[in-house]
Amino acid sequence: MNVYFHTFGCRANQYDTALVRQAFEHAGAAVVEDPAAADVAVINSCTVTHESEAKLGRLVRRLARRSGRLETVVMGCAAALDDGRIAGLPSVRAVLGGADPAQVLRAAGLGPHPLSPSPAYGPHPLSPSPAYGPHPLSPSPFGRGGTTGRFRGLLKIQDGCDEHCTFCAATLARGANRSRSIAELVEEARALAEQHAEIVLTGVHIGTYGQDRERGAGSGTLRSLGELLEALIEAVPEVRFRLSSIEATEVDDTIARLLIEAPRHLAAHLHAPLQSGSDRILKRMGRHWYTAGSYRARLEWLADRLPVFGLGADIIAGFPGETDADHRATLALVDALPFTYLHVFPYSERPGAAAARLPEQVAPPVVRERARELRELGEAKARAYRATRLGQRADGVVSGRGSGKVELLTEDYVSVYLPSNEWSGRARCEVTVR
Ligand code: SF4
Repeated sequence: MNVYFHTFGCRANQYDTALVRQAFEHAGAAVVEDPAAADVAVINSCTVTHESEAKLGRLVRRLARRSGRLETVVMGCAAALDDGRIAGLPSVRAVLGGADPAQVLRAAGLGPHPLSPSPAYGPHPLSPSPAYGPHPLSPSPFGRGGTTGRFRGLLKIQDGCDEHCTFCAATLARGANRSRSIAELVEEARALAEQHAEIVLTGVHIGTYGQDRERGAGSGTLRSLGELLEALIEAVPEVRFRLSSIEATEVDDTIARLLIEAPRHLAAHLHAPLQSGSDRILKRMGRHWYTAGSYRARLEWLADRLPVFGLGADIIAGFPGETDADHRATLALVDALPFTYLHVFPYSERPGAAAARLPEQVAPPVVRERARELRELGEAKARAYRATRLGQRADGVVSGRGSGKVELLTEDYVSVYLPSNEWSGRARCEVTVR
């Protein structure tokens, strides 16, 4: 069987796809890059924006048109919330919420290995079921685990979220917070370190890592993201770790200390979702654990102590009830903080998310205009930050190659492009920002 994979959405999804892909390879399937050569397409879906679901529909239709024999399995978050629209797309063979490799294999017509009493590729390590035992792919579970390129690996530390932000359907799609054990993650990081110079810790709400275990769902030992980072750095000191998206107020003192004191081990970069600079709107969003003030205070404290600091944020423009004054409060906060890039999302209604039922929906042209203003400000700040870094030395890890150039990603999330003939050939090397 030839299988084609496509992933929409976040790094957690990329990681899930990598696991499913391994399971198919393990079952004897050939992974192909050209969908025309495939018997089955596996698409990992995302529900974060209306646009990502529209793209999913377009891709499935295009695949069906290009190859009459190809069947599609849709997995992931949008699949979990499907009201029949995805199942009704042409050539869709199955729609599966979640990312359990064994289920996806079965849906594609490949069962678990007949000689394996405990299936070699399922259930997913973060499946809500049985309590965090050894990873199903043990003893060498993730030798080729999630990857964002040849030298940057992904390590998914938890799945799910206990919050209920009114714009987000992640809790519905992915369930409650479930953390993997430190021992299992250290083992996986060691395997990833054999091939990767950087490992990105990913998940749905990584700042709550370990809190489910603290409540007794796992080993009963109190664990936190800071403790996990300390264990990982001790086990694989040669690797640079990077945090994917983390709530600013969940950067505890241990994480802050590692960012400040161990820049070779933990990249000086945070992507801290802001969503709005107005406390009134944050409340309507259900984001009760911070205010514009506490967000700002945590990041300013860190920025004062870090010589270089990549800082990004997600912002939603035009959330229901957002007034011009709320929007201006967001612009003012963005202006005041040392952001080096922004991800701006015009608000779009998500099926199942409570915000769709909120009064005072903002007119689409106003949403678009506010998004445009925020994006312009974000781009100006990105240019200004880059200008401050020009000519400075940085710790680069190769993140891509093409057109005679090598792209290196610095600790503070700046891309530097080197002509291939100037590259030392090492996955991690000092570069000058140009
Ligand atoms: S914290 Fe809010 S936005 Fe983030 S995954 Fe949880 S519910 Fe969604």
